[in-house]
Amino acid sequence: MLRGPAAALLRRLAPHVSGGGCGGAIHRRVPPPAASSLLSRFSSAASTFSSSAPSSSSITDRDEAATEEEKTEISNGDSGDRLSISVDRSGLYNPPEHSHEPSSDSELVKHLKSIIKFRSGPISVAEYMEEVLTNPQSGFYINRDVFGEGGDFITSPEVSQMFGEMIGVWAMCLWEQMGQPEKVNLIELGPGRGTLLADLLRGSAKFVNFTKALNINLVECSPTLQKIQYNTLKCEDQPVGDGKTTVSKLCGAPVCWHASLEQVPSGLPTIVIAHEFYDALPIHQFQKASRGWCEKMVDLAEDSSFRFVLSPHPTASLLYLSKRCGWASSEELEKVEQIEVCPKAMELTEQIADRISSDGGGALIIDYGKNGIVSDSLQAIRKHKFVHILDDPGSADLSAYVDFASIRHSALEASEDVSVHGPMTQSQFLGSLGINFRVEALLQNCTEEQAESLRTGYWRLVGDGEAPFWEGPEDQTPIGMGTRYLAMAIVNKKQGSPVPFE
Ligand code: SAH
Repeated sequence: MLRGPAAALLRRLAPHVSGGGCGGAIHRRVPPPAASSLLSRFSSAASTFSSSAPSSSSITDRDEAATEEEKTEISNGDSGDRLSISVDRSGLYNPPEHSHEPSSDSELVKHLKSIIKFRSGPISVAEYMEEVLTNPQSGFYINRDVFGEGGDFITSPEVSQMFGEMIGVWAMCLWEQMGQPEKVNLIELGPGRGTLLADLLRGSAKFVNFTKALNINLVECSPTLQKIQYNTLKCEDQPVGDGKTTVSKLCGAPVCWHASLEQVPSGLPTIVIAHEFYDALPIHQFQKASRGWCEKMVDLAEDSSFRFVLSPHPTASLLYLSKRCGWASSEELEKVEQIEVCPKAMELTEQIADRISSDGGGALIIDYGKNGIVSDSLQAIRKHKFVHILDDPGSADLSAYVDFASIRHSALEASEDVSVHGPMTQSQFLGSLGINFRVEALLQNCTEEQAESLRTGYWRLVGDGEAPFWEGPEDQTPIGMGTRYLAMAIVNKKQGSPVPFE
C-alpha cells in the first residue's frame, strides 16, 4: 500500500479520465512502437518507424568527393559497427562548381550553407543542432506543431493524462516539503503543447492552496507552440491597469512566457519541470583520433551537400570536453571512442542550482539518457521515422541522450546548498508515486475505449519492452519506456529528500 504524502494527494486527484492524452501513436525516440488499435482510431497518420535508422556518424555517402582527406576506421560506440570517417585536412570550404545554378534549398539550408561559406570552414555539430532546432525564422520547433500523430513524434504527456498528473503529485509533495509557501514560481522548460501542465493543473484542482500559490512561467522559444500552450491551458487575457495579465482558467494562476530561464523573475520559491527539454539542447561531438580528441564538424562537400568532418585544429569547446572528462573515471574514458558534451546543459543546470539555492524549491528533470558519458546518440526523427542527421535540416527533430552524471556534477559544483537525487528509471519514479493506483482509480470510471487507451498508455509509461497483454497486430505492439527514461531531482537541502527519492 502506498503511504505518505504522495498517497494522500493521489486519493484526492480529480476522479475522471480527461479528454487529453493518448492522442498519438509514436513515442519520441523509441523504435518502433506503433499505434494500438484504439490509437489508430484517433489517427490515420503513418505510424511506423524505419527499422534502419542511420547512425549519426554514418558519413560514407558524403565521402566520395573528399580527395585530400584521410580515411579512418572508427567504431560506432553503441552498435560496434565499423564505419568510415573522413578527416578534412584543409578545413577550408571549396566552392561548388555550379554554385550559380538556382537551388531548391530551404531557407534554413541556405542559412546553414551561408554560415559555413562566411566562416570559410565547418561549424560544430552543436551550432548545426541549435540552428536546425531553434533558428528564429525556420528552426524545426519554431513554426509548427511537431507533436502527435500528425507531427513527428509523441511524448509521454501526449500518451496519457497520468503522466502530467503524477508530475503534479511530485510538485505538490515538494511544495508541502517547502512549507506550503503562499507563492511559488512553477517553471516549465519547453512545455511542447502544454499538455503536461494542463493535466497537472486539472489533477490538482482540488488542492486549492497549491493552485492558488502558483505563478506559472513557461520557457518556450517557439511562438507557434506558445499559442498552442495558451489554448491548452485555457488562458485568457485580463486587463490590469494599462496592461494585461494572462490567466489560466484551469486554476486561475497567472501565466507568463519567457525565452530563457534567466528571464524568469527570481525571488519566489521555485519548482522547475524539464521534461524532454535537455535532449534538445545542442551537443558537441568529439572523436578519438591518432592526434587526440578532435571535434566532429559539419561542412559542405564539393557537391554542396552537408558532410561530417573532423576539425583540423583544436576547437574552443575542447575546454568542455576536458571538464566532462574530469568527472569521469579512467575506466569509463578508456571504453569510449566518441563523447558527446552539452555545455548548454551544464550552464542551464548551474542556473537551476543557483536559483534553487537562493529562492528555495527544486527541479525535476525527466529525459532519456544515461547516468554517465554519452558516446554517440544524436538522432533525427521525421514523421515518426529515423532519418539521417544531415538530411534536409529543419524538417526533422534532432535530439541526444542526456548525460545525467554531467547534470549532477554541474549542480553540485554550482552550489553547496543543493542536493541531487537519482537518476532513477521513469518506471521506478512513476511507480513509487503510485501510478498503478491512479490507473486503477481511472479504470473504475471510464468507457471500454478509454480503458484500452489507459492500459496502453500505462504500459508505455512504465513498461519495459513489448506489452504482454497486447492482442492487436504484432507490428503495433506498444513498447514500454519505463527503463529508457530517467528522472533526477535537484532540491534545496532545506527541503530534505524529495519523494520518491528518499
Ligand atoms: N516537454 C514537452 C515538449 C518536449 S519537446 C513534452 O514532453 O511534450 C522540446 C520543447 O522545448 C519544445 O516545446 C521546444 O519548442 C522547446 N525548446 C527547445 N529548445 C528550446 C530552447 N533553446 N529554448 C526554449 N525552448 C526550447
